Amino acid sequence: MAKVVVIGAGIIGASISRQLAQRGAQVTVLEAAAAPAQGATKASWAWLNSNYKQPQHYKDFNIRSMQLWQQQHSDLATFCGCLMLHDERPDPQDPAYPMAPVPAEQLLQLEPALSPELAASASHARLFPAEGWCDPDEATRSFLQDAQQLGAQVLLGHKVEAITIDDGKATQVACSTSQPEQQQQQGSSYTADAVVVAAGTGCPELAAQAGCQLPLLHKPAAIVMTSPLQPGLLRHMVISDTVFMLQRRDGRVLLGETRPEEASNTDDSSSNAQRILALAAAAVPALASAGIEGIYIGYRPYPADGHPVLGWVGGGSSNVYVAVTHSGMTLAPLVGQLVAEEVMAAVGGGSRGSSSSSASRLLAPYRPSRQFQVDGSGVRWADAAQAGTR
Ligand SMILES: Cc1cc2nc3c(=O)[nH]c(=O)nc-3n(C[C@H](O)[C@H](O)[C@H](O)COP(=O)(O)OP(=O)(O)OC[C@H]3O[C@@H](n4cnc5c(N)ncnc54)[C@H](O)[C@@H]3O)c2cc1C
Repeated sequence: MAKVVVIGAGIIGASISRQLAQRGAQVTVLEAAAAPAQGATKASWAWLNSNYKQPQHYKDFNIRSMQLWQQQHSDLATFCGCLMLHDERPDPQDPAYPMAPVPAEQLLQLEPALSPELAASASHARLFPAEGWCDPDEATRSFLQDAQQLGAQVLLGHKVEAITIDDGKATQVACSTSQPEQQQQQGSSYTADAVVVAAGTGCPELAAQAGCQLPLLHKPAAIVMTSPLQPGLLRHMVISDTVFMLQRRDGRVLLGETRPEEASNTDDSSSNAQRILALAAAAVPALASAGIEGIYIGYRPYPADGHPVLGWVGGGSSNVYVAVTHSGMTLAPLVGQLVAEEVMAAVGGGSRGSSSSSASRLLAPYRPSRQFQVDGSGVRWADAAQAGTR
């Protein structure tokens, strides 16, 4: 039985683990935090979309994953559509991605909770009916639970400190542990046929040990969760000039700023939360009666060219696979499927990179070895030449 260690129990690690377990791998998930979904996943808006994404291959990649959410995880995702109130971008005119202009006089019928003044002034409103959202914590836990039911071990409080590389291959993954019942334990280590690094913003440090330099930005943003309001207050996700709003099934409303000042992105003070709530209440007056349950700062793992990084370090010469992306909530089902397919093709006896031609084709633009721009300069990511360094 192929043994695979997955580092990270955010939505990406959880989805990959689920798919690996479904393909018969013996999976061990190592997660530094005391619970799953504590990284970027915790603070995600989790808007499932391919809204104006570019270029076409990336747009299609997101659409494929949205379809998987709909076909395979409809219990976890809500496809209520997204209403953008001030969208003056050129009409994408893409039959594969429906969009309907909404005249200002019809807005209140569609979204009765909007402020009438805002509705009257929304001269460029558009509805994207295929878009939706999910609860990131619920989705991550559900994927992990599926994996566990198929035998995966999920070890929380296990921070990976070192990946031992021998002759270009990971031979051991060493952890420090922080679970209270393991006070006496100094650490633990694991061997595997393949190691998948799905550690979000923690990826560069781990991938570097296998000789791969990941130019990853950590882009912060603040999100606010309100106390529960009447479910059904908001019928769609709503994005105005100032705020992003979606209502969870339990009535709580998730808020974020669409054009935040830089300082707001890392400000988790209650005054910042109150300010964001006030912006939302100007758009949806019923929100004025909401309390604030929390404000969270999330750091997006954002590859420097904005696209996913999915592939073997060194192009296949090592057994370390990196999986990190922005838009990870949208992309989790597809990434989980394609990565598991590639990993199993390799550990199941095939050569690395011998997965199905459709997986290889879909993943081709996102390899760690690609050429891409950072601050205008071409950078080639470190590859096999550096494998073996720690
Ligand atoms: C504010 C915000 C809004 C967003 N909005 C959207 C959106 O609307 N739609 C969308 O599709 N995406 C959105 N995203 C992006 C999306 O949430 C992320 O792409 C996704 O959550 C990344 O998941 P992940 O599993 O790769 O990373 P994470 O969720 O960060 O998980 C990585 C895990 O690895 C663990 N880890 C790190 N280092 C180690 C180590 N050494 N050992 C063991 N474990 C380790 C961490 O503890 C963490 O639990 C948003 C993100 C943010 C922050």
